[in-house]
Amino acid sequence: MITTETIKTTCPYCGVGCGVDTKVQQGNLIAVSGSKEHPTNQGRLCVKGSALAETVSHQGRLLSPKIANKNVDWNTAYSHVANKLSDIIEKHGPDAVAMYVSGQILTEDYYVANKLMKGFIGTANLDTNSRLCMSSAVAAHKRAFGSDTVPGCYEDIELADLVILTGSNLAWAHPIIYQRLAKAKAERPDMKIIVIDPRKTASCDIADLHLPLKPGSDGFLFNGLTHYLIASNKIDQTFIDLHCEGFEDLSENVQQQTLVQTALDCDVSEESLKTLYHWFASNERTVTLFSQGINQSSSGVDKGNAIINCHLISGKIGKPGATPFSITGQPNAMGGREVGGLANQLAAHMELNNPNSLNKVKRFWNAPNLVQKEGLKAVDMFDAVGNGQIKAIWIIATNPVVSMPDADKIKQALAHCDLVIVSDSSDSTDTLQFADVCLPATTWGEKDGTTTNSERRISRQRRFLTPPKKAQDDWKIICEVAKRMGFNEAFNFASSADIFREHAALSGFENTNTRGNNERDFDISGLAEISNLEYQNLEPIQWPINSTYPKGRKRFFDDGQFYTASNKAHFITITPRLPTYAADCDQLILNTGRIRDQWHTMTRTGKAHRLLEHIATPQIEIHPDTAAKLLIKNTSLVSLKDRGIEYIARANISDSQRKDSVFVPMHWSDEFASHARANSLVRPIQDTLSGQPEFKHSPVTIKPL
Ligand code: SF4
Repeated sequence: MITTETIKTTCPYCGVGCGVDTKVQQGNLIAVSGSKEHPTNQGRLCVKGSALAETVSHQGRLLSPKIANKNVDWNTAYSHVANKLSDIIEKHGPDAVAMYVSGQILTEDYYVANKLMKGFIGTANLDTNSRLCMSSAVAAHKRAFGSDTVPGCYEDIELADLVILTGSNLAWAHPIIYQRLAKAKAERPDMKIIVIDPRKTASCDIADLHLPLKPGSDGFLFNGLTHYLIASNKIDQTFIDLHCEGFEDLSENVQQQTLVQTALDCDVSEESLKTLYHWFASNERTVTLFSQGINQSSSGVDKGNAIINCHLISGKIGKPGATPFSITGQPNAMGGREVGGLANQLAAHMELNNPNSLNKVKRFWNAPNLVQKEGLKAVDMFDAVGNGQIKAIWIIATNPVVSMPDADKIKQALAHCDLVIVSDSSDSTDTLQFADVCLPATTWGEKDGTTTNSERRISRQRRFLTPPKKAQDDWKIICEVAKRMGFNEAFNFASSADIFREHAALSGFENTNTRGNNERDFDISGLAEISNLEYQNLEPIQWPINSTYPKGRKRFFDDGQFYTASNKAHFITITPRLPTYAADCDQLILNTGRIRDQWHTMTRTGKAHRLLEHIATPQIEIHPDTAAKLLIKNTSLVSLKDRGIEYIARANISDSQRKDSVFVPMHWSDEFASHARANSLVRPIQDTLSGQPEFKHSPVTIKPL
């Protein structure tokens, strides 16, 4: 008799983090459905998640370790990587090596990568593609709260009377949260939804108000809201007095940002702005949900803080239905943040610039070479590869030749690098072409570990498929290389459960301040001693998980306690500014982003044919008036150019665009056609605080072909 087994796991795509029930027969995945018991999706799956079963074949998989394009066995590959890295470190120092990882890998993979680089090799040159996604929100959280804390939970979005989506096309980028919001709106039609976005996106379908603001002007808009709240006395003075610092400076800072001025700065009508401000002021239960449109900016951190200021000043935080909410792009961007997987983080939400934290981590890891300073963030890291400062880079589960800004420069950098190691499950990414060493990794369905979604919920990704014979887990590959570099004891993990227990123990290590409270927000010490069976059966749970919150915590700051020295939140005064490069009169603004049915560089979603039915080819979305002026016809070929770099796709004429902008999906690569990598046109401009690139605003010239 053929038996069918149901194994619960988590979707590998976006930061929503939906639970997935997989049906497995004779080792084959035959169907997927949304887990009814998972609190995030309660049985739902979006179109990408429901096509997962079509993406798991071994076709197109990297099947053997390779050195210089020749198949080798694992032992040879491990020793080769270890010896090469050791040689480079001996000759040029630890900062001559780098690792560039991904929000796709599991927390356990991330943990050992961070431990190896920052504790044992002794460099913080470990960064991640999550840098491109949410690092501005991280910096904004830290400035305001003293910690990288997402205060609320998804339930708040349903409980709110007003939900503001800013820089977020929730309908396409986070579909299940959009569905939850749409259902709440259908049940309570008085609930208000506002979309603030230069584009009229699919999220506007359920909105009461859309503000198509001038691209990049969000900082003006939220400073204008702060001004309005103060001027109309719609602030929570008790909350400010008890729990916040810096109100006087903030109040002075926004004095000039009147409604009239803000309407001019943002190129929106005074009337719509006044509606937004009035609704914010009059709804206690307000959620402001922000994503890449805010973060991917040269002033992304300031924009995040301008949003948080509005919530703090009106006490709309830490309460049901009231919170600023950064929603992350990737399935495990949050897990990466928790282990310290960014070049400016240490581990377990401890800071690299804090001697006390350095001392703790050094002792906990018994680390011989604990790093003492920040490493290079993604854009600077690849610059350093290009100029020879970094001589070896290990790229894990990401495709920077397509996804990084100024993507042609990444090609040139990798072509000149002494040692490029690429761990991937796919055999044909654009980045693999530059690899000296290719390491075949396991992927979704074969990997086993945990991820954390945007509401701090840790969920299990479980193994239910047998990997190709030579594919290996990322954590295992990293540990085997570490052992051959002489760090045997510290990387002698037998399983992902072993790693998770150490990660959980580190999170609670000496985590008290002088007042006896937790010094750090991220603390899952309650899971530090779970058995293998408990780990296997771990139910989705929101951190922290410790003696105070053994079953997790829905909301932070409900007690008015923040993680700053004074326990008070900080108002951050900002000077709003437009993107670094304005478009000349003969240019348009290029905005790159996701479409509904594809994920990143399509190495997985590209395998499911039905996901191409929505949008099958790259396209340039352009306003009808702009198209008419430039003699561009719908579906005709169009060229975008900047700095001698060209992108070619078909026009999609749509009044969802502003007349000054075009939108281009970021997914396609040169595998599809030449000139198909949208991010090659993006200038490598970064936020100076977060290092997050300005993907949403690149001037380009446009012409029909
Ligand atoms: Fe997966 Fe995100 Fe869709 Fe949920 S919303 S099924 S996590 S892609």
